[in-house]
Parts: sequence; structure tokens; C-alpha cells
Amino acid sequence: MEQDNLLKKIIAHAKTYGFVYPSSEIYNGLQSFYDYGPYGVALKKNIQNIWWKTMTQWKENIVGIDTAIGMHPKVWQSSGHVDHFHDILVDNLDSQKRYRVDILIEQHAEILIQKKQSKTAENLLKSMQYAIQTKNYDQLHTLLTKNNIQCPVAKSAHWTPVRAFNLMFQTKTGALNEEANTLYLRPETAQGIFVNFLNVQKSTRMKIPFGIAQIGKAFRNEIIARQFVFRMREFEQMEMQFFVKPGTELQWFDYWQEQRLQWYVHLGIDPQNLKVKPHDHLAHYANKAVDINYDFPFGTKEIEGIHSRTDFDLQNHAQATKKKLQYFDAREQKNYTPYVVETSVGCDRLFLMVLCNAYQQEINNEKNRLYLQLPILLAPIKAAILPLVKKDGLPEKAKKIFDDLKYHYKVHYDASQSIGKRYTRQDLIGTPYCMTVDYETLINDTITIRDRDTLKQERIHITKIAQWLQSKIKKI
Ligand code: ATP
Repeated sequence: MEQDNLLKKIIAHAKTYGFVYPSSEIYNGLQSFYDYGPYGVALKKNIQNIWWKTMTQWKENIVGIDTAIGMHPKVWQSSGHVDHFHDILVDNLDSQKRYRVDILIEQHAEILIQKKQSKTAENLLKSMQYAIQTKNYDQLHTLLTKNNIQCPVAKSAHWTPVRAFNLMFQTKTGALNEEANTLYLRPETAQGIFVNFLNVQKSTRMKIPFGIAQIGKAFRNEIIARQFVFRMREFEQMEMQFFVKPGTELQWFDYWQEQRLQWYVHLGIDPQNLKVKPHDHLAHYANKAVDINYDFPFGTKEIEGIHSRTDFDLQNHAQATKKKLQYFDAREQKNYTPYVVETSVGCDRLFLMVLCNAYQQEINNEKNRLYLQLPILLAPIKAAILPLVKKDGLPEKAKKIFDDLKYHYKVHYDASQSIGKRYTRQDLIGTPYCMTVDYETLINDTITIRDRDTLKQERIHITKIAQWLQSKIKKI
């Protein structure tokens, strides 16, 4: 309950202070679509920039790419999305609420485990997996009723038949609808990388092992879409496919798992809230997979998947197109289809994780304080430049400091209202430092810097500000 309230508070905070708004809100919104406000877009772009730099700048063997959202429809047949990219749904007849069957069964299994009935839970999960793989939806219905798995709202197990629902959005290309071709809005960015494997390898002469990274929009017609930007119908992914010599993929898998975990810790995420969860049941193309999960206020949920995808995608595209999607290994003097280790993270989920991690409610005897403890690397504004009062030449002095800094850092100038109110405003959007120009500045060219987290103040000379800010930005 308390955790539910916390999420509600974070959603309200995000809207009030310009991070995230419901899409088309004046028309009562559109479920599972969101717009990023001025501070939200800055935070999101900072997250994307760090990821992009980590992958394509600080690693010498990864290059970036930006592929189209629309792809040849056959891509999605080869990738398995047309046949297999389903949510399996059921409605409760009493509450009229709709659920994903796998989630209902998994939650029930967790309760069984808590009641020390692990064997029953294990059998239930095995039966579920088998029924999903064989598309036996009647069997899934039986599992729900036989185990008395209830709707959390109606507390009943009166279920409609179980149905599969493809998550890909469809549109048409061409002028006349009847003649037009069906086009899918990509449900993941990875396929844009696979179909360009040869283009990239040949045009950049990358040698295996090497990676291709991409940030871009993906679309999924999620039926059960709740929990704010955690599950959206239009969202952004940051994916990297790492192409390796077959047989070395599990080594690289361990490497990437470690790298990605460390990346979150460097970003300031509390490691205690990060959990690695191996997949209980591997997809048919994978030989190892883990999720990196985060303890959100609404439960421990996936933020990133790391998958060893074998050569499944390249082989399927090669077969469908009759193109040789192979790599010539000069050292070994032979051709092979590389194996792939993928790291795949949702930018919006990461954004929500950063926000949850940063949201601080400090309750002191005299006064409560609310602030976002964002690391300087991610904060939308790095420092606010504030003249103490709006007279006696202080605004001009502060403006000059602002103008000098603005080409190097995202800084903000604010002269309105009392200094206390201005500090609070910056705390609420997560600005780490407030720099105040006061009467002493006019005498000796020093300013005070207030630290958002410790509230300590120090004085430094204005010629040292840029260097001082730089020293606070930790390298990843
Ligand atoms: P889930 O089981 O939560 O639906 P998934 O396993 O289908 O996620 P992947 O296909 O592995 O997710 O996608 C990789 C990443 O993309 C996820 O870890 C997540 O961060 C992000 N992602 C997936 N679906 C959504 C969505 N609907 N909204 C926001 N982010 C998403």
C-alpha cells in the first residue's frame, strides 16, 4: 500500500515538475502513451547519451547505427514475431478485468513457494511452459481453474477462454488501401541491426568480436499496460548485438552481464535494488539468458535483458533472402555465421528506475524536504546560477557567470522569488548545485555553492567554477 502510494507520488511529481505528462491529456489522455516534458526529455537524453558513449565511444569494437522503423514485412516472419510474438490473455467474468495468463500463473507460483510448496509451484510452471510452447490454450485455462487461480479484484476463478494476441502494430504503405502492403511498426530495434550485419561489417571492416548498437523507438500493442512508463505502447530501446565466434558466446555473455551491472552501479543505482534473474525457460533460439531486475515500488521487474541468441537471427534471414550472412575469419581462414550476445534495455524503464532511485523524502522535526538525488551526470540541470537579490548589480554579475558556463554545461539562471524558494525549485528537479551571487561576490569575485544532498555551502572564486563542476562529474 505504502509502495503503491510511493509510485503515485512519483507519477504526480513527474507531471508537476515537467518530467512526464500523459499523452494528449486535454483529450483525457491515451492509455500507455506518454510525453516527456522539458526536464524529462533532458534526463532521458542524458541517459541515452551515457549509454551511447559507453557503447560506441568508450568501447573500440562497437559501432552505432540508426535504422528505419518500417522494415520489409518478411523480416518479422524470419524473426519469428509474426508467429510467436503474442501475449496470452484471459478475462475474468466477474470483474471484467483482463490479465496475462503467464503473469497470473507466475504470481500464483510465487505464493506457493512462500507457502513452502516449491514442488507444486515447479510443476505448475513446467505445465504452463509446455502449454505455451504447444499453443494449448485450453490447457492454460484448465491450469487456471484447476489451481483455483483467482482474479485479484473479483477473488474468483471464473475465466473466459484463453486467447493469444499478437503485439505488433500494423499499418499500410501505398496510396490505395486495397493494394497496399501491410507494414509492422518494429516491436524491437534488434532486427534493424541483424539485417545490416553485412553492410556494417563490410563498410567499417570490423573484426569479430564486434558490436552494433542502436537507440530507437519500438512499438508493442501491450494489452495489459499499467505502471506508468514501465510498460508503454510506444517506447525506446537501447540495444547492442555483439557478434562473436561460435563457441565463445558464453564467455562473452558473462562479460556483458558484469559490464551492464557495473554500469548501473556507476550511474548511482543502489546495487541492493538490482537483481540478476536467469530465465527459467529459455526461448528456443537462446542458450543462456538473464534479466537485470530492479526493485520498483510496484515489485521487482525487468529493466534489461541479456540474451545469448546463437546464430538464430542471421541464419533465418540468410535462409529467407538466400544471402550469405557470414563472416570470413582471416586468422582461421574460414567463413562462419557469428553467434550473438545481446544487451537490450528499455530507455523509459531506465528513466523510471532513475527517478525512483532519486526520489527522496526527508522528514525532519521542523520541516520536510523533498528532492531528487540525481547524479550530476544525469541531472537535467547541472547548476543553477542565482543572484541573491534582483538589484545592486548582482543579476548582471550572475548573468555573466551563466553566459560563460552555458556553452559547456546545462545551467539555469533564475532571479525570481526568494532564494529559499529558488533552492526548493532546484531540489525538486534534481539540480545538484545552486550557485549564489551575493554582495561578497562584488568585492572578491567569489560565490557560494550549495550542495543539494548535504546542504553544505562552500565559497569558490568565479574563475574556478567550470573546473570545480568538471571535478564533480565522475567518469563511468
Ligand atoms: P516484459 O516481459 O516486461 O514484457 P520483455 O521481456 O518482453 O519485457 P524484451 O523484449 O526483452 O522485453 O525487451 C527488452 C527491453 O525493452 C526490456 O527489458 C524493457 O526494458 C524494454 N521494454 C519492453 N517492452 C516494453 C514496454 N512495453 N514499455 C517500455 N519498455 C519496454
